[in-house]
Amino acid sequence: MIERTLVMIKPDGVQRNLIGKVISIFEEKGLRVVALKKLRLTKDQAKAFYIVHKERPFYEDLTNYMSSGPIVAMVLEGESAITRVREIMGATDPKEAKEGTIRKLFGLDKEKNTVHGSDSPESAQREIAFFFSEQELLAVD
Ligand code: UDP
Ligand code: MG
Repeated sequence: MIERTLVMIKPDGVQRNLIGKVISIFEEKGLRVVALKKLRLTKDQAKAFYIVHKERPFYEDLTNYMSSGPIVAMVLEGESAITRVREIMGATDPKEAKEGTIRKLFGLDKEKNTVHGSDSPESAQREIAFFFSEQELLAVD
């Protein structure tokens, strides 16, 4: 099934000039960019985006980090895009991520792991709407 998913290039990726490299990896795997923007989240926006993690011990540090500098948010489309993107990103902890995954290639640590990808259709729907209006989602043809 053709799906859409929300991807972020996190502050560590933008800061190290990896925007193009990360997008290229997704494009080479057949995913298409249907929406794209660079922005900086406020602390409150980061807390809202990661609200499902509000009880977790890493929530405060994560939301400080995610609001510490610019990010790139994008919507990718393709066959089974949600699970495909998760596979291409690799495990949360770069040390545990498989060879060739984005987090293995570029992740710095379990927090600064370069990319985010939605984990389910429900998350994808919520996270896409967090950043983009319907009018900003442009299919290729
Ligand atoms: N995170 C962290 N410490 C942890 C687990 C997660 O700092 O022990 C951060 C990390 O940036 C991760 C994000 O919180 O990407 C969301 O965590 P989740 O478990 O949803 O991982 P993901 O779905 O991003 O792989
Ligand atoms: Mg997650």
